[in-house]
Amino acid sequence: MLEIQNLNVYYAKAHVLRGVNLRVESGEFVSVIGPNGAGKTTLFRAISRLKDYSGDMFFDGSRLPQEPAQIVRLGLIQCPEGRHLFPYLSVLDNLTLGAFRHDQRDGSVKQELEKVYTMFPILRQRAYQMARTLSGGEQQMVTIGRALMSKPKLLLLDEPTIGLAPIVRKLIVDALKQISDSGVAILLSEQNVPFALEHAQRVYLLETGSLVKTGTAEEFRRDEYVRKSYLGAA
Ligand code: ATP
Repeated sequence: MLEIQNLNVYYAKAHVLRGVNLRVESGEFVSVIGPNGAGKTTLFRAISRLKDYSGDMFFDGSRLPQEPAQIVRLGLIQCPEGRHLFPYLSVLDNLTLGAFRHDQRDGSVKQELEKVYTMFPILRQRAYQMARTLSGGEQQMVTIGRALMSKPKLLLLDEPTIGLAPIVRKLIVDALKQISDSGVAILLSEQNVPFALEHAQRVYLLETGSLVKTGTAEEFRRDEYVRKSYLGAA
């Protein structure tokens, strides 16, 4: 579904992504792990064309367009790190803004909204509150909900659990599993490695701009280097 070949990204003279090759199959759940500053956000911003790059990217067999809005229309939707909600709009308005790919007259916006409320019931109660008044976990639910309203084929999630309490993190993990089971492909970026491995079928390890390892989640759990460096094994 997504194929990235020889991706290179610079910030001025700093070479922050170096020859990255990555793919996500249709319906697959793939995680990218790596420490702070490895380049995960840059990778996601490049995929959504919010950052210039050299290299080739294909989605559903065609070269990715150059305009972020055209990329969204193809169903390649990003949940950005830091959420980027409209703080002074209500939860309902934030969610509805995600629905611009729908025909606004055929009732499908309402249907998608119901799906989001079923996944995150607290958002129904918060529908008319300003987004800025929500807890961090609730804001993360709105961010994921807004992305779902765009009917993603592939959902990019950039560190969705950062700063969240364990109980909320569990809720988000369960939601991602549901989304994945419904057939949406997921590309997740995470520093929290146990979380990243929980439902992923395949994993990439990114360190200082290069992909240094790839394999199944099970291979990563058994890998000596991953265990020592990222899973706290002695
Ligand atoms: P984090 O978990 O902190 O978000 P990350 O893996 O997502 O880390 P990036 O944010 O992609 O990493 O950063 C990769 C590298 O690029 C880092 O060295 C960072 O300092 C640098 N960088 C990121 N954004 C910019 C920018 N706008 N200008 C210059 N350098 C940047």
